[in-house]
Amino acid sequence: MENASSSDTISLLSELIQNKCVNPPGDELKSIKTVQRRLREHGIESRVFESAPNRGNLVARIKGDDGPRLMFGPAHVDVVPVENVDSWEEDPFSGIVKDGYVWGRGALDMLFIVAAQVQAFIELHEEGFHPRGELILLVVSDEETGGTHGVRWMIENHPELVEADYAVTEAGGISIAPGKIAFMIGEKGVARKRISFKGKAGHGSMPYLSDNAVVKLSEAVTRLSRYSPPLTTEYLGHIAEGLGLGFVQRLMLTNPWLLPLTLGRLRSSEPMMARMVHGLSRMTVSPNIVHGGVKVNIIPETAYVDLDIRTLPGQDEDYVISHLRKALGPLADEAAIEDPPGDERGLMSFGSSSPARSEFVDAMEKAVRKEIPGGTLVPLIMPGATDCRFMREQGVEAYGFSLFDPETPPSHLADLAHGSNERVSVRTVELTQRVYRHLAKDFLK
Ligand SMILES: [Zn+2]
Repeated sequence: MENASSSDTISLLSELIQNKCVNPPGDELKSIKTVQRRLREHGIESRVFESAPNRGNLVARIKGDDGPRLMFGPAHVDVVPVENVDSWEEDPFSGIVKDGYVWGRGALDMLFIVAAQVQAFIELHEEGFHPRGELILLVVSDEETGGTHGVRWMIENHPELVEADYAVTEAGGISIAPGKIAFMIGEKGVARKRISFKGKAGHGSMPYLSDNAVVKLSEAVTRLSRYSPPLTTEYLGHIAEGLGLGFVQRLMLTNPWLLPLTLGRLRSSEPMMARMVHGLSRMTVSPNIVHGGVKVNIIPETAYVDLDIRTLPGQDEDYVISHLRKALGPLADEAAIEDPPGDERGLMSFGSSSPARSEFVDAMEKAVRKEIPGGTLVPLIMPGATDCRFMREQGVEAYGFSLFDPETPPSHLADLAHGSNERVSVRTVELTQRVYRHLAKDFLK
């Protein structure tokens, strides 16, 4: 059931994929210009700001009267690199439409939303939509490596142009149960830490009584992986409510004493769900790089582990350090806990969230119900960071909101975004465009 507007959206999506704005280096200006050209073809003026050579951001607005300001975006046009071209069935930058899917790197994260938002914006403009407040379209660069030349640049350089009360962007929109559609109210924070140990160099032929940094490190890693930080069940409570779970099931999810039992059960039956429930209920620590020693016959003097730490909203640096120390136990005094050197530093962020229930959330739900009668929204926290955090810092209520074809399995997003054979169904693109349009028309009417 394709109409003219839908094929415009699909052709825009294909073009954004073909523009190949792989970050780094990004070179997103190409896609920003593509969007600007699209808007201009429909008589819509937009402003493009070049934040760095070949990089930029675009703002367009439909002005109304005094009232709430709703933003479509920040919608990022950069995509992550392709790791292994050979594992793709199609050229990752073809943007080809095959069997009802648009294929290519970025199709899911998040070019289909960019295309849907741009086209919904155009449609609203074409029909002479006059909002009670304002509708803002913000298309940006550089989300995948921290937003320096994208949202952050706009907030620092043109704050008045990106002021809004509400924002809708990636991700969400997957049906996690019949009629239960996930939307993202917040995201976890990211902290990267390096824990290092010192020992004393000596000959590997006589290890007795030696002070071996690798031995200390390996004990530290074991302790870190066994440590259970305090449980927070607030976010699981939102999910239980959104799913309309019965009393017992709700208790199993929200009672910190029962949660380990619930996880134990889910582990074998629904591992994907178990992973999510685990991540939404605590700070997680994953020891991902270890390094120690220089030569096989020398007792190592130094060793370190780099940790990927994901925090819940409200958990700050002190929280992270104090729990790492607790996990290390007797090794804590010997351990040096620092930020790892290099680019990873820029990826650090705090968790953030917007209200799980509000007038605006009701409006999003209403928009979804126009496409999926009786559908309800289930508030989730994203495991990874998005540009929403920068908007929330500015006081914006920002949500991950789209609408997938209800037939799409929940694992689809997790497996394909950033993975091989990334693709999005034409139906999903259409539904997403429609809910954005419903939302703007209804909430800003
Ligand atoms: Zn993204």
